Amino acid sequence: MKKVTVKCPATVANLVCGFDILGMALKEPFDIMTLKLIDEPRILITNKDDYNLPTEPEKNVAGVVLLSIMEKMNKGIGFEVEIEKHIKPGSGLGSSAASAAGAAVAANFLLDSVFSNDELVQFAMNGEKLASGVKHADNITPCILGGVTLIRSIHPLDIVKLNAPDLFVTVVHPQIEVKTSDARQILRKEVLLKNAIKQWGNIAGLVAGFEKGDTDLIGRSLEDVIIEPVRSILIPGFDVIKSKSKEAGALGGGISGSGPSIFMLSKEAHTASLVETIMKETFSQLGIEYKTYITTIQKSGVELIS
Ligand code: ADP
Repeated sequence: MKKVTVKCPATVANLVCGFDILGMALKEPFDIMTLKLIDEPRILITNKDDYNLPTEPEKNVAGVVLLSIMEKMNKGIGFEVEIEKHIKPGSGLGSSAASAAGAAVAANFLLDSVFSNDELVQFAMNGEKLASGVKHADNITPCILGGVTLIRSIHPLDIVKLNAPDLFVTVVHPQIEVKTSDARQILRKEVLLKNAIKQWGNIAGLVAGFEKGDTDLIGRSLEDVIIEPVRSILIPGFDVIKSKSKEAGALGGGISGSGPSIFMLSKEAHTASLVETIMKETFSQLGIEYKTYITTIQKSGVELIS
């Protein structure tokens, strides 16, 4: 029976000003998934980690994605799935997206690449619907395509892979819980025109900055006047980390997805490590446990290991 093992990267959704439309893949952390194609219409999920995620296919994002693929193929096939998760669920680093995208891409390898990237994003979004109640692609798309991606539209799907410069990414995951539903609920439903103008200037600037490899423009555009002022209240230490990191030379950064993880971009490795020290000191002083990563932008998406 055919079997593949894939590496599924963590992702940072929103990229500060691009709420629901921008995302970026990270070199670390990543999950490992092994899928085996079987000739019976069933799904068997095994966890090789301590997160105790559901193994019923309907309750695990990987299972939901595979069920949608089986329905589409309509051929009496099924899958055995082994998930080795390193991206903590609920971290804001695209844990659910890694499993959803990983399942879609791995299944496609087993099915001799019958599906296009757009179709894989559509399948994988079924997993995000299970995890958060809404179909969104800002983690899924960079996880599948790698690098930095823009979702211009979901209906109809219109995704654009952007140029990704060689930047360092420092991430801190404070061990506090921010429910995606809470992080969405506290957002205001309306925005002031003057804020909208500032925001779309920043989004356009950020996209142009990535395309031109203009790191100063990227830094200037990493500003969010709509979501961050409301959401950052849920993350203690956020303002201190952001201002001190920028003083230390970081280009900028913000909340990763709906949090609680925070990310900062830097041009140099030594700046990325100064930022890590700032993150560690801040959460140590607050008495909050944390995990940090110094990594880079992952240029390719879900990768075949064997
Ligand atoms: P993140 O932003 O880190 O992806 P989410 O809150 O979006 O976190 O998703 C985590 C939720 O999805 C949890 O409720 C978790 O139980 C559920 N879930 C189901 N299957 C998986 C899976 N294979 N990987 C991660 N989370 C999963």
